[in-house]
Amino acid sequence: MTALNPRPEPDAPISRIPAGAHEEGALSCDPEAITSAADDFGHLVHRVPLGVARPGDQSQAAVVARQALAQGLPVIPRGAGHSVFGHGQIESGVVCDLTALNQIRDIQPDRMIVEAGARWSAVLAASSAHGLAPPVLTDYLELTVGGTLSAGGIGGASHQHGPQVDAVLELHILDPRTAELLVCSPDRNAGQFFAALAGHGGGGIITQATIPLSRAPQRVRAYSVPCADVRGLIANQLLVARDGRFDYLEGQIISSEGSGWNYLLEAGAFYSTAEPDDAALLSGLACDPAAAEIKDTDYATFCHRMVPGVRALAATGDWYRPHPWVSVFLPIPSVERYVAATLASLTPEQVGPLPMLLYPIRRGRVPAPALCTPQAADDGLLYSFSILRTVPADSESISTALGHNRELARNALRCGGTVYAISAIPAPAVSTL
Ligand SMILES: Cc1cc2nc3c(=O)[nH]c(=O)nc-3n(C[C@H](O)[C@H](O)[C@H](O)COP(=O)(O)OP(=O)(O)OC[C@H]3O[C@@H](n4cnc5c(N)ncnc54)[C@H](O)[C@@H]3O)c2cc1C
Repeated sequence: MTALNPRPEPDAPISRIPAGAHEEGALSCDPEAITSAADDFGHLVHRVPLGVARPGDQSQAAVVARQALAQGLPVIPRGAGHSVFGHGQIESGVVCDLTALNQIRDIQPDRMIVEAGARWSAVLAASSAHGLAPPVLTDYLELTVGGTLSAGGIGGASHQHGPQVDAVLELHILDPRTAELLVCSPDRNAGQFFAALAGHGGGGIITQATIPLSRAPQRVRAYSVPCADVRGLIANQLLVARDGRFDYLEGQIISSEGSGWNYLLEAGAFYSTAEPDDAALLSGLACDPAAAEIKDTDYATFCHRMVPGVRALAATGDWYRPHPWVSVFLPIPSVERYVAATLASLTPEQVGPLPMLLYPIRRGRVPAPALCTPQAADDGLLYSFSILRTVPADSESISTALGHNRELARNALRCGGTVYAISAIPAPAVSTL
């Protein structure tokens, strides 16, 4: 199973529809568009659509939805194509590529209105020009607003502000049953609103979103703190997540040559004037404060921190290899046991060059129900654990990784966890449990 696409720039959408291939809302059967739409970042699943539409505005998107409905054709919305398991693909249907629907429509001190195909990098650039930023950004910003709101949208501020889907103020959605454009919020057309959030396109095409904004910091002091083991990492994370001392909180598990795994607490303090107090921020942690790596950057550089790594992966070719990623959500009492058992079943070669991510998140006051997470602690905290595998493009490596993902999903369910639906897990893993 090799990638169908020629190599795009690493930050380009996976679905690269040739310019001029589309008239207003019309369906393109251009072979390059079809080939592109039958692939994604995972390079694991290839579903060939009948055609691809690329609406340039919301009324064109409505035309696509209406025409497909009239002809009885299924439609799948698609953003930047960074799914890993065919989530934005459809066999014998219509792919509605939303990347041209990318206008920033309005920015107010507490909110902004953006079209669903806008990437988070564009959202951040536009809001930063007003000294504002969305409260939660994903690690990688070249995903679309519609794409992450259809998945969950978890990032380093989710220990405070939850996933992106828990804080959306309003959506414009093309109803999948009628193709009618609905304005939806927690108080208006709430059923459609909550079906679309983390709905992976099944709740209709999101054409526009209103997302919250708050003051953007000017700078970030980032701390990378080695921890002794998985228990130490979790204890340190819960301490700082609960007392709220950091604005950004994640954790990485990376292979260490000859000695298993290294555990890093990754944290950030946002500031604009007074510098953070390192001693206070590192106090009480079970670690050697002198071993902490401390780095100051401006906020934009911090938000784009994945860019150098992505370029390096593109240079080695790893960015274009198959990515059978798996992410699970775990209740706090099970995290240590689950992660330790998983690490015992993995070798660094099975993971590849990307770190595993382990960090707490908090569900919001009105959690989007389609983002299925396990029982949270009283303070709303639970865990997210991701293995971002890169494997060679041969069928044996891929099927071994997918089989292991299936086992990890089963284990997560057995200990009260759930699977983040972005994962590459063959369907029976969940249904046969
Ligand atoms: C490098 C990388 C980094 C990532 N980092 C994070 C991270 O930090 N946190 C996190 O939570 N996730 C992360 N993800 C996962 C990512 O959030 C999801 O895969 C997301 O859905 C991809 O967005 P996209 O724009 O590429 O959407 P696509 O892959 O194009 O589509 C994804 C799904 O969303 C649906 N969809 C897309 N647009 C719309 C729309 N307008 N209306 C309705 N449905 C729509 C599609 O039908 C599909 O089901 C990452 C993925 C990659 C590849």
